[in-house]
Order: sequence, then structure tokens, then C-alpha cells
Amino acid sequence: MLEVQHWRVTYNDIHNLIRSVTPKIAEEFNPDIMVAIGGGGFFPARVMRTFLRETTENKSLQIQAIGLSLYEPLPGTTQEQIGREVVRTQWLSPNPGKILLGKRILIVDEVDDTRKTLHYALSELQKDVEAELLSSPELERDVLRAATKFAIFVVHNKNKPKLAELPSGTPYYAGENVDDLWLDYPWEAIVIEEHDRLAALDKKHREK
Ligand code: 5GP
Repeated sequence: MLEVQHWRVTYNDIHNLIRSVTPKIAEEFNPDIMVAIGGGGFFPARVMRTFLRETTENKSLQIQAIGLSLYEPLPGTTQEQIGREVVRTQWLSPNPGKILLGKRILIVDEVDDTRKTLHYALSELQKDVEAELLSSPELERDVLRAATKFAIFVVHNKNKPKLAELPSGTPYYAGENVDDLWLDYPWEAIVIEEHDRLAALDKKHREK
């Protein structure tokens, strides 16, 4: 099997990528709410909220969490292989109120690899919007539907052919576009000092 190249990313790398892209997102999309895809989207969403609050006069900017996992149906397939299905492990709370309707919703994840996860998240959230619309007066539905907007933010987007497409016109923001390599995130590390030490070595190596 081909050896996949790994790239270690540090908390500071992620923090600074988010810092650099947030003003553009605030200006162009100005989210009311974030939906973080767990577990990798949780930390980026929390960091982004700090910067969004700086630029958007302290909106409450609730972070909703959903959990999605790539199910590997074939025994012996690894996390780095394609051919996986997305399954829900957690979803928006069954709140009698309306979570999404009329809002500008930023979906946040750490990495866009095959795009299957983002595609699944967006299409399921759109179904939720339709369900929320059913409890609104019929006359207001078109206006509310049009006012509900989605955008995507990922810390890293891999430059590779995608296995799913997002609806055209969906605003899409990436902290950084990277080659098709495997990113090792700091929250997956056991000893963070060792992760950071190796990340610094890798960086030196790349700069040579
Ligand atoms: P996609 O559905 O775009 O193929 O994959 C999205 C999910 O797969 C991510 O949320 C993440 O959990 C996992 N994933 C894909 N590529 C990487 C990677 O390079 N590193 C890590 N740690 N996880 C990845």
C-alpha cells in the first residue's frame, strides 16, 4: 500500500489560519450561528467565535454541535482510504423552537477531504430547515426560506477530486488549501510537546 505523507499541524497554526480568514467571513457572510461538525470542527469553531465577536459587535454566536463519522464498511479499510459512508453520531437537539430558520449558518469542520461529510451535513441541515418551516405560517415560508443561508468554513481543504458537490453558490472558505496528504491535528496527539517538536522539525525540513 502507498505510504501517505503526513503533515503535523499545531494549535498555533490553526489559531493563526482562523485569525487570518475570519475578517473575510465576517464581512462577506456575517454568520448568526455556527454548526460545528464534531470532533474536528469543535476547536476551530470556538476559536473563530473569538475573532467573529471582535468584528461583529459581540453577537451571541451560538455554536451548535453535530457529530458525523465516516463509517468504513469494508473490513481492513483504514481511515485514510476512500469508500466510506457518513453516519450521524449526534445531531441538533430536538428543540421545539427554531434553531436554523432565518439564520445565516456557518458550518465548520477541520478538513475537507472527499467532501462527503460537508455534503451530508449541508443536505441534512437543509432538511431540518424544511421541517422548521412547517411550523411557520404558510405565507411567511418563502421569505424565511430565502433568509436562511448556509456557508462552509474548513481549516484545511485538500486539493483533490471531490466525491460530492456542494450546491452551487454556497459560500466556501478554507484557512489553507493543501496537497492531498494526511494532516495530524494537535487534538489527536497524546503528548502535545512531542507533536509540536516534530511539527517544528517538519517545518524546518520543508523550508530547506
Ligand atoms: P471527508 O468527508 O471530506 O472525506 O472527510 C472529512 C472527515 O474525515 C474529517 O472531518 C476528518 O474527520 C476525516 N479526515 C479527512 N482527512 C483527514 C486528515 O488529513 N487528517 C485527519 N486527522 N482527519 C481527516
